[in-house]
Amino acid sequence: MIKDPVVYIDGEFIPSQEAKISVFDHGLLYGDGIFEGIRIYDGVVFKLDAHLDRLYQSAKAMWLTIPLNKVEMKDAILETVRRNGYQDSYIRLLVTRGKGDLGMNPKKCPKASVVIINIQVEPMHGHGSKNGISTIIASIRRQTPDSTSHEIKSLNYLNSVLATLEANRQGVDDAIILDQRGFVAEATGTTLVAVWDGMLHAPPLTASILNSITRRFVLDMAHDLGYQVHETDMTPFQLLMAQEVFLCGTMGEITPVQSINGQQVGAKTPGPITQHLLTEYEKRRKDPKNGTPIA
Ligand code: PMP
Repeated sequence: MIKDPVVYIDGEFIPSQEAKISVFDHGLLYGDGIFEGIRIYDGVVFKLDAHLDRLYQSAKAMWLTIPLNKVEMKDAILETVRRNGYQDSYIRLLVTRGKGDLGMNPKKCPKASVVIINIQVEPMHGHGSKNGISTIIASIRRQTPDSTSHEIKSLNYLNSVLATLEANRQGVDDAIILDQRGFVAEATGTTLVAVWDGMLHAPPLTASILNSITRRFVLDMAHDLGYQVHETDMTPFQLLMAQEVFLCGTMGEITPVQSINGQQVGAKTPGPITQHLLTEYEKRRKDPKNGTPIA
C-alpha cells in the first residue's frame, strides 16, 4: 500500500501531505462549492457516470462553471486512482468556486478549482455497522426545497453537522432528519429505507433529500429481486412501527438501524430483507456493468 496518495488539484498531482488550497477559496470561506463521494470496489468505480451527472447538475443549480467537461473530469479521476493503485478505495471529488477576495460575491472568483482526493476509508459507522446502529430523530429539520436544500450536493453541510452533534450529545450513532412538513427525509449523510408488510418504503425525492445514487441502486435492485418498492411520504409514526429500517449511501453503504429514540426496530437487526439486500448489494457493486473499471 502506498503511504502518501496523490491528490489532483487543478491539473497537478500532488502528494497528499503537501496538497493545499488557498485561504481565499470561497469553498472554505463560504461553503461555496460542490462535491461527490464515490467508491471503488475491486477496481470498478461504482456508478461513476451517475456521480458525474449529479455533479454537473449541482453545478448548474449553483451557476458554477466546472473548468473540465465530463470526459476530462472522468480522465482526471481515473488517472488519480491509477496513480494511487488502490483496488478498493474512496474518491472525494470537489469543485469549489475558487479563489476570490474576502467578499462573498462569486463575481470575484474567476475560475473554479477541482480537487480529487483518493484514499482508503471505512464505512461511515465502521465495519461493525452491519450489525446495526442506534439513531435519534433530530430536532433540526432539513431546509425547504427553495433554500440551501440537500438536493444540491454542496459544501454547506451545517444542517447535517448540527444533527450529528445532536446524535453525539444523545450518545447514539446517527440522526434521522425530518423535512419541513414533518415527514421523514434522510439521515445526516445517507438516505433511509423502511420495511413494513414485506414491502420497501423510501421517502420520495420531494422530501428534501439528496438524489442518492446508492438509494436508486438499492431500490432498483430490490424491485429486480421481486420486492414491492414505494417511494412515498413517511410519517415518524410509520418509521417507528417499521419492521426493518436501513440507511444507504456511498459512505454508509447499507447500514441497518437497530434503534430509534431508544426503541428497538423490529425483532432483529439486520432484518431478513435488509440482510438479503446487503448480500446482493455487496455482490453486484463489483460488477463492471455497474461502474467504470480503472484499467
Ligand atoms: N444524503 C446525504 C445528505 C448525503 O450526504 C449522501 C452522500 N454523501 C447521501 C444521502 C447518499 O448519497 P449517495 O448514495 O449518492 O452517496
